[in-house]
Amino acid sequence: MKILMIYAHPNDKSYNASILETVKENLSPKHELRILDLYKEQFDPVLRFDATHRRRDLANDVAMKHYRDLLVWADQLIFIFPTWWSGMPAILKGFIERVFVADFAYDNTPRGLKGRLAGKAWIITTHNTPRIFLPFAQDYSKVLKFQILKPCGFKAVKVTQITRVEYMTDHERKEQLQKIAKLTQNL
Ligand code: FAD
Repeated sequence: MKILMIYAHPNDKSYNASILETVKENLSPKHELRILDLYKEQFDPVLRFDATHRRRDLANDVAMKHYRDLLVWADQLIFIFPTWWSGMPAILKGFIERVFVADFAYDNTPRGLKGRLAGKAWIITTHNTPRIFLPFAQDYSKVLKFQILKPCGFKAVKVTQITRVEYMTDHERKEQLQKIAKLTQNL
């Protein structure tokens, strides 16, 4: 499979960085992997359009072509990010706004969005909220899964939540990394 990892954490010594390394180390060599590290790339997350740079032309924005090509290339996306204020970090939200645009990621129809992309996605996110509260929580990757990826055409979207991350012992955090390792080996 062609796998694109989309990673959003500013600190390369973070727990999220350990998740990234775990996925890299445990991915079978039969897969082809590309990594998009949004902070390292200094991705500009601000979507701009006006009378001269029109919204309808965003699907042809030259600055985003590399990212559109990566999305078309990939059979599987893997997102890795901490949950901040219930959702994805702003840099990742900006990536979605600038790259997952109309006439590229979806078509607008009177019945809603019609997806143009295809493939699978795996969202791995960390946060401090106990698992028991997740069914009642707003967002916590529900927006990325149900309001972004599924409408854009991704059929199978799996979510792995590492909860209470800052309140676990180091040993428990390492156990979580082992779980990620196993899931990665099964891709
Ligand atoms: P880090 O802070 O890097 O690490 C967490 C712990 O893991 C540290 O003790 C570190 O020493 C340890 N660690 C690092 N690497 C390893 C390793 N390899 N093995 C074992 N231990 C290791 N949480 C919510 O629940 N809901 C929210 O809405 C929310 N909003 C937030 C908003 C902001 C702006 C911020 C900054 C935080 C928010 N949080 C929220 C908490 C946030 O989700 C967590 O801080 C984040 O998920 C932790 O991930 P990290 O990679 O930054 O962890």
